[in-house]
Amino acid sequence: MPVFDHPEFDHHQQIVFGSDAASGLRAIIAIHDTSRGPALGGLRIYPYASDAEALTDVLRLSRGMTYKSALADLPLGGGKAVIIADPRRDKTPELLRAMGRLVDSLGGRYITAEDSGSNEHDMRWIAEETAYVGGLLRPGEASGDPSPFTAWGVFCALKSAVRHRLGRDDLSGLRVAVQGVGNVGAHLARHLHAAGARLVMTDIDGEALAHLAEELGAEAVAPEAIVDAEVDVFAPCALGAALSAEVVERLTAKVVCGAANNQLATPEIAQRLHSRGILYTPDYVANAGGVIEIAWQRRDDYAREAVMAHIEGIGTTLDEIFARAEREGQSPALVADDLARERFGAAG
Ligand code: NAD
Repeated sequence: MPVFDHPEFDHHQQIVFGSDAASGLRAIIAIHDTSRGPALGGLRIYPYASDAEALTDVLRLSRGMTYKSALADLPLGGGKAVIIADPRRDKTPELLRAMGRLVDSLGGRYITAEDSGSNEHDMRWIAEETAYVGGLLRPGEASGDPSPFTAWGVFCALKSAVRHRLGRDDLSGLRVAVQGVGNVGAHLARHLHAAGARLVMTDIDGEALAHLAEELGAEAVAPEAIVDAEVDVFAPCALGAALSAEVVERLTAKVVCGAANNQLATPEIAQRLHSRGILYTPDYVANAGGVIEIAWQRRDDYAREAVMAHIEGIGTTLDEIFARAEREGQSPALVADDLARERFGAAG
């Protein structure tokens, strides 16, 4: 299994393989960059088919966190951790405590938090072994669930994109297609509804979809039909790689802005969107609300208003990215990458 020649290896500073025989822990922590601060990124617990698959994921995700934190103006670097295990079957207090010890062995260079397969409850076990944990519930203050903060950030991002591409501040009557109404998608849909938008939505979970559509008076469609919906904005809030060449050809929207990570199936999709006149909102800029809130939890002066104001700054960052993209005739995806690299000192 190549590491330094791995296609996803991008000058990561440190990659740690950890195992614990007693609990069955098999984990990898990747620290991509710490020039802005300690590397913060969630812990993914997933039954990867191979060690190689786990390595690919952790290299890609940790790099993404460096870019996300830099553009969210956080004093943090980028890292990520993965445990090769089935979260429904293999998660035990012993396994999580062993993970806590692995995190602790890095002395604070890496700070963990929730990601897919791990939750606040798991973070408590990890916190028994290390102080380098975010995403913990602090009674009366932090929420322990990043989704509402992520959704608010996506909403602010969407307003910026609509202003730039469609020249309007008012969302009333704006037609938005929401793909995936899980934790983030449902919160986003409620914000859009409150702002007067007309919603078309889908989910593979038909029951959750029907409930939300009824609550918001929205149109519910089958998963494969959402791409063809006649809308102004397409909001991918399900899984990654939602934007393939075929999907981009079918979209009627002029704006893409959603919560999903890694929306572009391949990097050149950004250019296809640009050529079709569709304004793409870089995913890691739009969906940084959750990590912003987790970063604030590490401060002594946590205040909800300050967190929300920081999240609203996502809109300002995007105003800058969209303006620069327009000036340079480039996709916002490339401009965001350049701006992030300038901020974490990797320009050139
Ligand atoms: P979630 O699992 O709660 O929601 C995803 C929803 O998408 C589910 O309801 C699922 O049924 C649905 N779905 C899956 N495949 C689908 C398909 N093919 N078509 C339609 N619907 C489909 O996850 P979430 O926490 O809401 O996160 C959504 C996305 O946002 C993910 O890509 C996640 O990585 C990203 N993200 C989430 C956060 C956060 O704070 N939760 C932060 C940053 C990024």
